[in-house]
Amino acid sequence: MQHFYFDHNATSPVAPEVLRDLTDSMAEVYGNASSIHHFGQAAKRRLESARRSVAARIGATDREIVFTSGGTEADNLAVFGVARRATRSPRHVITSAIEHPAVLNACSQLEREGVEVTWLPAGSDGLVRAEDVQRAIRAETVLITIMHANNETGVVQPVAEIAAAAREANVPFHSDGVQVGGRLPVNVRELGLDLYSISGHKFGAPKGVGALYVRKGIDLAALLHGGRHERERRAGTENVAGASALGQAMSLDFDWNTLAALRDRLERAILTQVPGTRVNGSTSYRMPNTSNIRFEGIEGEAMVIALDLRGYAVSSGSACSSGAVEPSHVLLAMGLAPEDARSSVRFSLGPGNTVEQVDGLIEAVVSGAAHLRRISPAVLSV
Ligand SMILES: *Cc1c(COP(=O)(O)O)cnc(C)c1O
Repeated sequence: MQHFYFDHNATSPVAPEVLRDLTDSMAEVYGNASSIHHFGQAAKRRLESARRSVAARIGATDREIVFTSGGTEADNLAVFGVARRATRSPRHVITSAIEHPAVLNACSQLEREGVEVTWLPAGSDGLVRAEDVQRAIRAETVLITIMHANNETGVVQPVAEIAAAAREANVPFHSDGVQVGGRLPVNVRELGLDLYSISGHKFGAPKGVGALYVRKGIDLAALLHGGRHERERRAGTENVAGASALGQAMSLDFDWNTLAALRDRLERAILTQVPGTRVNGSTSYRMPNTSNIRFEGIEGEAMVIALDLRGYAVSSGSACSSGAVEPSHVLLAMGLAPEDARSSVRFSLGPGNTVEQVDGLIEAVVSGAAHLRRISPAVLSV
């Protein structure tokens, strides 16, 4: 049986061009980028060219890019790095209840360390309001961190407006851009961002490499202490092959309009062919590849398994919390009842998906939902 992948918000396959670059750097460019000899300099050149490529794609300068081990480290570096440098006391941080655990749990840790944290809710459309952020700003606020696009719903947050409010109050603004950076065009200057996280494995680079954009002038404490790598913002021998792959993946062009059409085809078919379904979150401010759908009376986990048995990989809630039975914290923060949150499924498309795969998935969803409702005692009233 063939298996098809519709879980690109969890991770993506390595793109063929990136794989070639990766194996080439691993085999040929094995020097330590800090060494002064031929091998070290070759590694340094590859690293710096990757840095320029990442910087150029998001409208930053190369000195503003810190390579990390991924999105989680980039988020942690931003949150702790800024909060720990802030001299005001008491300190206050603003975030939202729909953040990825990489930001959510970093902020919880700050809270345990005595920092006050405001957790803003989202509307039923999945959007955090810029006015709410503005109202939450206090004299003690040292950081605002609100994600760019949500990994579960795909809803794109009003980061430019939030950035404007943050700028006016002179508070650094970090955005977790892991679902957007490398996929859609992003310009950190036009958006007015101070810090921005990206992660390679969400867009065709391997797992274990990411980057944090740190605007010039932002004071950042390091998380990792050791050698003087990355301008003393991140110690450790650089992952040259990973960074190079990240740079390569950033410069791949992909037709997201085609992908949006596939996503819409999938969504429309499910909404019309499966009774008791609705989309979670805004359909206007949304990533082109994501659809989060509620199936009334069906457990999301059961749907994931039913689709997997039919050859289609999707997700319920975020991948990081699957295995746990808790309903999605994102959907709960949007005001969904726990049973509605539990009956939601995320479809996330990527460059490998085709119209044939989408049509196969539609059939699988229709038959899977019918099967689950036949065997489930829950009575459906639509
Ligand atoms: C995947 C993801 C992360 C974590 O990135 P890793 O590279 O897997 O550590 C952080 N934020 C968002 C929004 C994500 O989707």
